Amino acid sequence: MKYNRILLKLSGEALMGQQQYGIDAERLMQYASEIKSVAATGVQVAVVIGGGNIYRGVQAEAFGLDRVQGDYMGMLATVINSMALQSALEKLEVSTRLLSGLTIQRVCEPYIRRRAVRHLEKGRVVIFGAGIGSPYFTTDSAASLRAIEIEADVVLKGTRVDGIYTADPEKDPTATRYAEITFDEVLSKNLNVMDMTAFTLCKENNLPIIVFDMNTPGNLERLLNGESMGTLVSAGGTGTGRDGRKPLLDPKHSPLQPLVGNQPEQA
Ligand code: UDP
Repeated sequence: MKYNRILLKLSGEALMGQQQYGIDAERLMQYASEIKSVAATGVQVAVVIGGGNIYRGVQAEAFGLDRVQGDYMGMLATVINSMALQSALEKLEVSTRLLSGLTIQRVCEPYIRRRAVRHLEKGRVVIFGAGIGSPYFTTDSAASLRAIEIEADVVLKGTRVDGIYTADPEKDPTATRYAEITFDEVLSKNLNVMDMTAFTLCKENNLPIIVFDMNTPGNLERLLNGESMGTLVSAGGTGTGRDGRKPLLDPKHSPLQPLVGNQPEQA
């Protein structure tokens, strides 16, 4: 496998499938089984899932309501999606933990970085709910931040489009897909990969992003097997890994030292 530890970002909207709102059971189970396949190969998998299929903070503003309140509602929406994904994974007998940026102690653990890393080392799929737990952020920012914190090798942004294009492929038939692009090129060409906060976090921490089509069954595993797909956004050159290392092609690479478990774990 090309990567040792990944952070998979799924949008809430993708969970709707063909529906106008909420969670499509078939799409949810598809995502769960894709995650199961890659986790079974030994890749450590962390997931951040959005909430746009249920609620977004900007909707509150449109109703003349308080934006901050709306953002917290959006964060709770991500917890609902995270719980659904957790259940779907458990149905497939995948060991999981849900760690939340907001304290919701009856249903999930609070986010604690060391605990997250320990779960991953034990082979559990870790789902990060409630974004970063603060308003005015997005789940893309949560994905970038958590990926940096847990020292993931890459952020895999699963979307319905198979990468980053020179123009909107739905509007411009001449648009072509970039196989690879640098952080600087994304900025100079004004391409939309993630919101600026999320993107800057990745750029400044040299964390590669791959935008790929998550809705085609088997794509996640094919991507991790090294098949070229989607668009890789990186610093470019040979040092495409974090801190100028080259971990991406070396499956034995592990930047992490085993952690001493000094915190009690929840069952
Ligand atoms: N949100 C937030 N802080 C965070 C993450 C999310 O306030 O750290 C809120 C924000 O209102 C956002 C909503 O949760 O609109 C749902 O997340 P997002 O829009 O990123 O979901 P996606 O577009 O991926 O479905």
